[in-house]
Amino acid sequence: TLTVFELAIPMALVPSYMEESKQAMERLQSVMIDHDEKIDAVGTTIKKQPFSVSFHTVNFRYDEAHQMTLKNINFVIPQGTRATIVGASGSGKSTIFQLLLDYYSPSSGVVCVAGQPLESVCSEDLWSKTTVMLQQNHFFYGTVRDNLVLAKDDASDAELLSVLQEMELDFELDEIIYEKGENLSGGEKQRLALARVWLKNTPVWLLDEPFSALDPQTERRIYERMMQKTMGKTVVMISHRLMALQRMDQVLVMDNGELVEVGHYDDLMQKKGYLYDLKQLENNRLPS
Ligand code: ADP
Ligand code: MG
Repeated sequence: TLTVFELAIPMALVPSYMEESKQAMERLQSVMIDHDEKIDAVGTTIKKQPFSVSFHTVNFRYDEAHQMTLKNINFVIPQGTRATIVGASGSGKSTIFQLLLDYYSPSSGVVCVAGQPLESVCSEDLWSKTTVMLQQNHFFYGTVRDNLVLAKDDASDAELLSVLQEMELDFELDEIIYEKGENLSGGEKQRLALARVWLKNTPVWLLDEPFSALDPQTERRIYERMMQKTMGKTVVMISHRLMALQRMDQVLVMDNGELVEVGHYDDLMQKKGYLYDLKQLENNRLPS
């Protein structure tokens, strides 16, 4: 069973110019096959243990020609808690997701889900409990309904319309979306991708800059709905804006491939370290 909603897109519908995403999907499929072969040998399922996400002395480089992109990363995000990863562009935030999703393996160290190394976790279980929204989202030629039910194939029209409303999208379900979502604005695409996350509504959400194309007011409203919707869930969100971080259980600050600060927003701000400096930079950039 293919349970990550991206995988439900028939490969033939993926435009060829989206080669990179396509390769990522193919890779995910091949990884799932690898994992399935290990189920019998290891016999582990994540049903038996709480769902947590952790990195243990993880070092990672994309290839030998480059420096380490992630250096000695250690963190634990316990089940049912929410964390935001912040840091400058290029600091390694999305790479953390690449490893979590098993698109790449660490050069050294261990990535764990439910306290078990990723490679020993039953992947079908894992993906059925995880919703992923990456920075680039996939849309294909078809109706709004077609593009949404990937996330939940038995969703009723009423449910689809209600999620669209939560995302402040006034689409008809029969409205046509062009390939790559060409007839949508960046903000509409992002909210449609969020609508899929809402529909899938699994115990674990991994979101990479899910609000980056929204104006601050819309971001604030949808963020608020997300906080309501994800109570009791494990959420790892990458964010470029330092908004509403007090509400998260943990903030992880990345700087040049290193995890330089971890803690609650209030404590980190009091420390006047990296997060404080980032916040000052952001404040200075805002028009007064
Ligand atoms: P962030 O999400 O914080 O902006 P990334 O994790 O995307 O940062 O990137 C961290 C570093 O890794 C950057 O220097 C980036 O150029 C490099 N990088 C990202 N993806 C790849 C890749 N597929 N191959 C080689 N280098 C990469
Ligand atoms: Mg990124």
